[in-house]
Amino acid sequence: STQPVTIAVSGAGGNIGYALLFRLAAGDLLGPDTPVRLRLLEIPAGEAAAAGTQLELIDGAFPLLDQVSVHTDATEAFTDANIVFLVGARPRTAGMERADLLEANAGIFGPQGRAINDHAAADVRVIVVGNPANTNALIAQRNAPDLPAERFTALTRLDHNRAVGILAAEAGVPVTEVTGITVWGNHSPTQYPDLSQASIGEVAALAAVDVDWARGAYIDRVAKRGAEIIAARGSSSAASAASAAIDHMRDWVLGTPGDAWTSVALVSDGSYGVPAGLVSSFPAQSIEGRWAIVPDIDIDEFSRARIDASVAELIAERDAVAALGLL
Ligand code: NDP
Repeated sequence: STQPVTIAVSGAGGNIGYALLFRLAAGDLLGPDTPVRLRLLEIPAGEAAAAGTQLELIDGAFPLLDQVSVHTDATEAFTDANIVFLVGARPRTAGMERADLLEANAGIFGPQGRAINDHAAADVRVIVVGNPANTNALIAQRNAPDLPAERFTALTRLDHNRAVGILAAEAGVPVTEVTGITVWGNHSPTQYPDLSQASIGEVAALAAVDVDWARGAYIDRVAKRGAEIIAARGSSSAASAASAAIDHMRDWVLGTPGDAWTSVALVSDGSYGVPAGLVSSFPAQSIEGRWAIVPDIDIDEFSRARIDASVAELIAERDAVAALGLL
C-alpha cells in the first residue's frame, strides 16, 4: 500500500458531495492500494449536513478511509491537499442577475484559489464542478499565481459521458464502441458535442447516424440532459455528476488509455482559436499526469460556428467578472 492521498471536497454536504464522497472512500478514484484522507468543506449552513455525511462515511468502515474531517475554513480544508473537488457554488436564484451570480461566485472561488495557492500540496490538482464551472475555475486559477495554470480544470466530462451514452443508445451499441467525441466550449447550453471525428466501432459516426440528427436534436438532447433529469427525477443529477468528476480526476492522475481522448475544460493555450487563458472544453489526453490538448483535429464550418458561439459566451463571462474588478 502507498502513502495516503489528501482529497478536499467543497460543498460536501450537498447532493453531488453525498454521491462523490462514498465513491472516494471506496477507492474508486485511485484504486485499491491508495488510502485517502477526506476533507469535507462547507459553509456554516451546510456544516451539519457534512457532519452527517462524515458519520455515514465512518459507518461505511471503508478500509481505505484513513481520515475524514469537516471544515468551514478553506485554509484548513486545503492544507496539503493533493486533489481538490470544488463542488459548492452559489446557485442562481429567482430574480438574480447574471452579474450577481458571477460576483457571488467570485467571492467563493477567489479566496478558495488563494487558499489552494498558499496551502495545498505542491502537486495539487483542482477540478471545478460548481456552476458557472468554467468561469469559477478561471477565477480560482487567477487567484493562484504560484501554481501552474494547468492545475485548474472544470468538469465537462459529464457532458462528454452524456454525449457518448446518447450516441451509443441511438446506434444500439455498447458505449465501449464509441470513440472520438469532443465536447467543446462552456459547460452550459452553448456547449458543442462534436461527432465529426467520432466512430462507432470502425464506422464514422456521421455515416452511421443521421447527420441532421447529429447536428440538431442530438446536440440539444446532450446540452439539455440536466433539465431532462430534473423533470424525470424531481431533482438535479448528482450521481452521474460525481461519477464524471471521478472519471476526470482518475484519468488526469492515472492517464487516458491508448490513443483515446476525452473532454476536459482546461486553461486554453490558444489552440483551436480559443483565446489563451480562457477555461474552455477541449479534446484532451492525459499523459504522464498532465492534460494535453489533442492537436490537428479538423474543424469544419459547422463546428467552427458552434465552437465560436460557446467561446463567445466564455469571453462574455470573463469580461463581466473582470468588469466587476474580480479578475
Ligand atoms: P449539488 O451538489 O447538486 O450541486 C453543486 C454544484 O454542482 C452546483 O453549482 C451545480 O450547478 C453544479 N453542477 C455542475 N454540473 C452539474 C450537474 N450535471 N448536475 C447537477 N449539478 C451540477 O448542490 P447542493 O445545493 O445539493 O449542494 C451544494 C452545497 O454546496 C451546499 O451544501 C452548500 O452549503 C455548499 N456550498 C459550499 C460553498 C463552499 O464550500 N464555500 C459555497 C456555496 C455552497 P447548478 O446550480 O447549476 O445545478
